[in-house]
Amino acid sequence: MNLDGHCLCGNVTYTCETEPRFTALCHCTDCQRQTGGAASLVVGVNDEDLRIEGDSVSVFVTRGDEHNTNTNRTFCSNCGSPIVGRIDAFPGLAFVKAGTLNDTSWLKPTIEVWTRSAQPWMTPIPGADRYEGDLRE
Ligand SMILES: [Zn+2]
Ligand SMILES: [Zn+2]
Repeated sequence: MNLDGHCLCGNVTYTCETEPRFTALCHCTDCQRQTGGAASLVVGVNDEDLRIEGDSVSVFVTRGDEHNTNTNRTFCSNCGSPIVGRIDAFPGLAFVKAGTLNDTSWLKPTIEVWTRSAQPWMTPIPGADRYEGDLRE
């Protein structure tokens, strides 16, 4: 499994040594706003195995109204691509923004979170577990 990736401009690159733990689709309004899309496709990996490099790595912290935990959103300050999210409530996990992977052919989300704010035209992914809020709800 290839877990290498980079941002749109290429300044920020990353690699992960170990297998992903899951692939999830996040429908939260903060992810919709940050990605500019309907949802954010993320791959959960062990944070300690993830190496991120580049001189334009920046972090923006969000604490949305629906969230009772901080989300640390790493992005490229040169091109604006979101790279990875880390949620204080889930230590040891990093949520890689899957659209930045070099190889996206194997992606198959099995979890959907924050479905209560999902775009109404998005149909449920067949076979995926759906959570109204985050994984704790
Ligand atoms: Zn960039
Ligand atoms: Zn989200």
